[in-house]
Parts: sequence; C-alpha cells; structure tokens
Amino acid sequence: MKRDSKVFEIIEKERQRQMSGLELIASENFVSDEVMEAMGSVMTNKYAEGYPGKRYYGGCQFVDETEQLAIDRLKELFGAVWANVQPHSGAQANMAVFLTLLKPGDKFMGLDLSHGGHLSHGSKVNSSGMLYDPIAYEVDEETGMVDYDKMEEVALREKPKLILAGASAYSRDWDYKRMREIADKIGAFLMADIAHPAGLIAVGLLNDPLKYCHVVTSTTHKTLRGPRGGIIMMGEDFENPFGKKTMKGVVRKMSSLFDSGVFPGTQGGPLEHVIAAKAVAFGEALTKEYKDYMKQVKSNAEVMAQAFVEKGYHVISEGTDNHLMLIDLRTKFPEITGRKVENTLVLADITVNKNMVPFDTRSPFQASGLRVGTPAITTRGMKEEHMPVIVDFIDQMISDIDNEELIPKIKKQVNEMMAEFPMFAW
Ligand SMILES: *Cc1c(COP(=O)(O)O)cnc(C)c1O
Repeated sequence: MKRDSKVFEIIEKERQRQMSGLELIASENFVSDEVMEAMGSVMTNKYAEGYPGKRYYGGCQFVDETEQLAIDRLKELFGAVWANVQPHSGAQANMAVFLTLLKPGDKFMGLDLSHGGHLSHGSKVNSSGMLYDPIAYEVDEETGMVDYDKMEEVALREKPKLILAGASAYSRDWDYKRMREIADKIGAFLMADIAHPAGLIAVGLLNDPLKYCHVVTSTTHKTLRGPRGGIIMMGEDFENPFGKKTMKGVVRKMSSLFDSGVFPGTQGGPLEHVIAAKAVAFGEALTKEYKDYMKQVKSNAEVMAQAFVEKGYHVISEGTDNHLMLIDLRTKFPEITGRKVENTLVLADITVNKNMVPFDTRSPFQASGLRVGTPAITTRGMKEEHMPVIVDFIDQMISDIDNEELIPKIKKQVNEMMAEFPMFAW
C-alpha cells in the first residue's frame, strides 16, 4: 500500500489505459524500462544551474557525468559538433534559439500552423508570435507539399531574419538544401525543428538538416523515444554568420550564445533526472535495434497510409515519407468533424488527434482532419499486417459514427489485440 494511494491509483489507471489501447497519436511513444528508471531516480534531487564543469552549485560531479554522456551520445547520434540537452521541452528549445538569434520585433518565417506548423513557430497565442513578427509559408493546395518557390518569393519580399523548417503534421521530407539557398540569398539564419521525425533523421532514413541549418532543435519524446524534453544542436557545415575566421571560432561563439539562451536566458536549473534518461535514450538510439525499429515505424506508416487510401480517404500529399499521415475527412465524410471522430474513437480505446488540414474550412476546435502515427504501436511490436486491421476498425467506426452498439464491439477487439503486444518490464 502506498502512502499516497490517491495519486498511485490514478497512475495505475493510466498505465492500464496505455496497455489496453491503440495509441495512434503521432507525437507519443513508450519509453524503455531503463529510460523510465533513470527519470524516476535520485538525480531529481540535484540543483545544477550552469553546464558540466561550470556549475553554480557544489556536488555536481555525478550529474556532470550523466549530462556530458547525454551530450556526447547525442553528438554521435546526429553527427553534431555541439549540443545542449537542457531544454525542458521542444517549445523551450525553440524559445531559447529565438531569444539567441532574434530581437523583439524581428521577422521570422515558419510553416503556417493550419498547414502543419507548430504553435511555437509564430502562433499569436505563443511567445514566438507575441515577441517577434512571424510570417508564414504554406503547402501547395494540389500536392499538399511545401511550396518552396512560393517560400522563396515571400522570403525575398519580406526578408525575415530567420527561416524555420519543420512541422507537427507534415508527412513529407524537407528540402533543407533548397531552404539554405533561400536563406543565403537574404542573409537569414536557417533553423530546423525536427521534433517529430528526429529518430528517422538520426538513423539516416530522412534528409539531414544538420548539413544545411545553422541550428536544429528537437524534442526527445516523440520518435526519439526518450523522456519528455528538448535539445539543441549545431552541425559542422555552415558559413560564418558572426564574422569569425575559423569554423571552430564560429562554433565556440554560437554555442556559448545558445547555451546562454537556454540558461539563464529562458530556464533555471536543469532537470538532471530527465537528462540522465535522455542519455539512456540516446544510447538506445545508437543501437541496431533502434534503427530496425525506425525502419519498421516508416514501413508501418506507408502501409497504413495505403490502407486509408484504399478505403477512399484523402491522405494529404497522397502518402508519407515519415511516421505520420494527415487524413482529410471531407472527401469521404464531408459532414463529420475531426473532433467528433477523435471523441468517438477514444470510446473504443483508439487514440488519435483531430487536426486542421491545409486550407481547412473548420476551426481548430472542430477541424476536418485526423493525424495518425505509427511510433507507439510499432514500439508495442506491431507490423505491416496489423495496419489494415487498425484502419478497418477506424473506418467501421467513422462509417457508422452514431451507432453506439458498435463501440463496445470494436473496443473488445482492440483490447484483445493489444493484449497480444505486452510492453517491456513495466
Ligand atoms: C511537439 C513539437 C514541439 C513541442 O514540443 P513540447 O515538448 O511539447 O514543447 C515543437 N515543435 C514541433 C514541430 C513539435 O511537433
């Protein structure tokens, strides 16, 4: 019996929910038992403002070791020349980079939120949209892919100080080389936020942003399958934006500015228990097992997208290069909102999220789309053959959305299916 039975009973219910449901939220995953163990460790008790070897508190010799290990493993994983593992989340990592590279009022350009961009890329309700002056590029209405020609046109006209690649609901790879050419034409910084596809990039299944971007941010808890958190990295190959003579000098100068952007710029003490868990996750991501996992995630997503297309759904951009897909419900079910589908599927233990689609005619609270991803179910061990079964559950429920008798039937099948895929030690 726990002293605080109230909280631990709720946690147990959440554990059961995760075990018995079909988790299709593209940004979620299940961490390993060792990532979990490091997160719940004594490292949480330690204050460590500053960086390894340069702390404002005594007794940091061991958190220095785990933080340095996290940094070194992350650099190896992405071939980065510098990394900061302290951002508490992806949004915090972006905030620190903006604080470093922009002044209040400066213009920057990111993907429109309703076309797949993220809140922290200039939304009016986020500090990025309040402190700076965001402008947006879009996807092409026909192809559903980022329109780089239009992006260039807008960039040349508006001259943003920073251009941001990356999205939360975009299923295609990015042309970082082209974006770098656009940025160079106007002397802008190029930043990539790879919060979603980071794991696929790490194992070489997608284009490498570190080759072309001045700075790259990410979360650690989506495809990377680590604890909830953020990171910032710099690659080797970029020109000298600070007037330094050597590459080493540029890295030294910029990295110390980014470090200051995180602490003391936007954060206080780092979460050393989470950083220890990041070190564990980066170690796992360097293994062959993880690479195989990522290949499976991508293959499952391809098969799932195909299964949706075969059922007559419109998958934006007609498919996926990564771990997720965006489904426009309007083609098959013009009357049904994303919100209604999300709320109905969850009753059968199928978790997805409603999402705006490009050129959506509904509000973000209703939305006409669904975002679906394969990282979590692939961690559970699901393979290509299970994807059409899942799509069939979803299609049955949407096709008969007001039939309350169908819900327990699908739920039973979902629970039975998930019982065949137990999760790790916990
Ligand atoms: C998820 C996401 C983030 C934010 O991550 P949090 O850890 O939730 O702050 C930032 N950028 C993109 C593109 C994302 O998809």
